Amino acid sequence: MEQFSGKTVFPGIAFGKATLLIKEELVTDKSPCTDPDAEWAVYTNAVKEADNQLDALFEKTRNELGEEEALIVDVQRMMLQDDDFLDAVKDLIQNEASRAAYAVDRVGKQFYDQFAALDDPYMQARAPDIADISRRLASIITGINTAFILTEPSIVIAEDLTPSDTLSLDKKLIRAFVTRKGSPQSHTAILARILKIPSIVQADINLNKEFDGKIAAVDGHAGIVYIEPDEATNKKLNQQEETDRAEEKSLETLRGLPTITKSGKKIELAANIGSVEDLQAVIDNDAEGIGLFRSEFLYMGRNNYPGEEEQFNAYKAAAEALKGKRVIIRTLDIGADKQAAYFGLPGEENPALGYRAVRICLDRTDMFKTQLRALYRAAAFGRIAVMFPMIASVWELKRCKELAAEAKAEVTKSGKIAGDIELGIMVETPAAALCADDLAKEAAFFSVGTNDLTQYTLAIDRQNADLEKYLDTHHPALIKLLEMIAESAHRAGIWAGICGELASDPEMTATFVKMGYDELSVSPVFILGLRKRIREME
Ligand code: PEP
Ligand code: MG
Repeated sequence: MEQFSGKTVFPGIAFGKATLLIKEELVTDKSPCTDPDAEWAVYTNAVKEADNQLDALFEKTRNELGEEEALIVDVQRMMLQDDDFLDAVKDLIQNEASRAAYAVDRVGKQFYDQFAALDDPYMQARAPDIADISRRLASIITGINTAFILTEPSIVIAEDLTPSDTLSLDKKLIRAFVTRKGSPQSHTAILARILKIPSIVQADINLNKEFDGKIAAVDGHAGIVYIEPDEATNKKLNQQEETDRAEEKSLETLRGLPTITKSGKKIELAANIGSVEDLQAVIDNDAEGIGLFRSEFLYMGRNNYPGEEEQFNAYKAAAEALKGKRVIIRTLDIGADKQAAYFGLPGEENPALGYRAVRICLDRTDMFKTQLRALYRAAAFGRIAVMFPMIASVWELKRCKELAAEAKAEVTKSGKIAGDIELGIMVETPAAALCADDLAKEAAFFSVGTNDLTQYTLAIDRQNADLEKYLDTHHPALIKLLEMIAESAHRAGIWAGICGELASDPEMTATFVKMGYDELSVSPVFILGLRKRIREME
């Protein structure tokens, strides 16, 4: 027996044949072309063909998985037409006489590296989409077929899986996914959770061809894949599988039940989302609301600001899908790790300490008010709350509120209906935590962003994987701040929640309940398990 470890994406046990999906190397011709115009025509034809292929993949995904999941394909369709990408390919063909396949391969790698280097897990996870689209184009141009096919129920083992690899595979034949690369935020990971397929990413497995076809097992709880598991391991995994089944059954019984401790303390269990694509998962996992809608993703992966109408439609979709449950939308938190070229943000020595979030919005008030108007209009269709990110001083919140009031008045003046919105803040700077008493007089609620609060409190760049051992998410300094924030909120009569990753840490649940937190907002998959944990608490 051999075993390898990685990061769990979806827990659960799976047994099956190991199927190694190893991609054929796409070798592109580096020699210069003689007719750049003809090469450019080759490229634009490949874009058309790729678009047709993606249309077909969209249909397949919609039929097999539904409308929401099919939108994943749309991300790629959008990237296919991205002006920056097209310009970069054109530049190589026209100015360096590159051949079309080589140009797309080079630009794809360059864009991949840019996305992979971003701190934000969601944006990092778009890197495989870029790789996917450039590989599709290069494969169309060179005629080398790189698609994967499964023929029997499999534990899929691969270097990495692009979203279209995953979407093209026959879902009925996938028992588990194990990849050497990949992130828990990738679309493949998102799909694995939706399909409830045990999955491990960043596994330390070597893609040894000898593993192909051997019996394998995946322990998605521990993040371990076994090749030819021994009897004792099989027995242990079988027992775990039984426990999982019983657990799943018992979690199902929690649907529709309140999240309340035995002594009667009620916690609102909400979901974190990045786009309307995630709404189905919110409903499926019985979230009691949306505690963090990261609106910046509407602004990224494009060439210009999203307009009021486009934003209104996204926020309205969320408001309507939640049918009266609260949807907290965070206003634009761009900057630092989350970049969009068209913002023209200056390069900075310390981007995490620089020009981001409300600091940009309070300068670009037209852009900010466009978002705020869209939010007020959407609020007429459900229960929307808004929170401002990266607040450090009371004046910033006051200014945000003034602009919100102006935006609301503009909506009404234009003859449209503006709903009511609770205006709260994210507490994610130590300054906001320390001045929570003052901020609580101006805010309708607090939602603690523990990801940034940890980074700023411990002075540890959340982007720097080498510092992980110092990034103590249970650090006493952070616990003290969390205590203070909840106390300040309650002294002022407002509610407090947590929407950073720490909210789903089971080791912290009892502490948060004891501190008096009113809401926890987590990835949809964690909702029912957390509800169970809280309902078992005294
Ligand atoms: C946080 O900082 O905890 C948070 C939820 O915001 P983000 O991770 O998007 O910065
Ligand atoms: Mg943050």
